[in-house]
Amino acid sequence: MHRSERENLVTCVACGSETAGSLERGFSIGADSVLCYECAKQRGGRWDEERAIWTREPDVAGLARPVDPEGR
Ligand SMILES: [Zn+2]
Repeated sequence: MHRSERENLVTCVACGSETAGSLERGFSIGADSVLCYECAKQRGGRWDEERAIWTREPDVAGLARPVDPEGR
């Protein structure tokens, strides 16, 4: 049976697959965009297993809507 727990599911902005966001190792872009782990890795992200953080952020240029055009 397919269990539906949509609360934590978010759609990867790059490949469109659903990921569990913070429960898995998705990389958050801004307030409500998420890059799934696979895409984040492909884009140069480096995940620290011990600390459970991204030690190197993936290149998300062109993926998320520009929240702050002045931001770097
Ligand atoms: Zn993805």
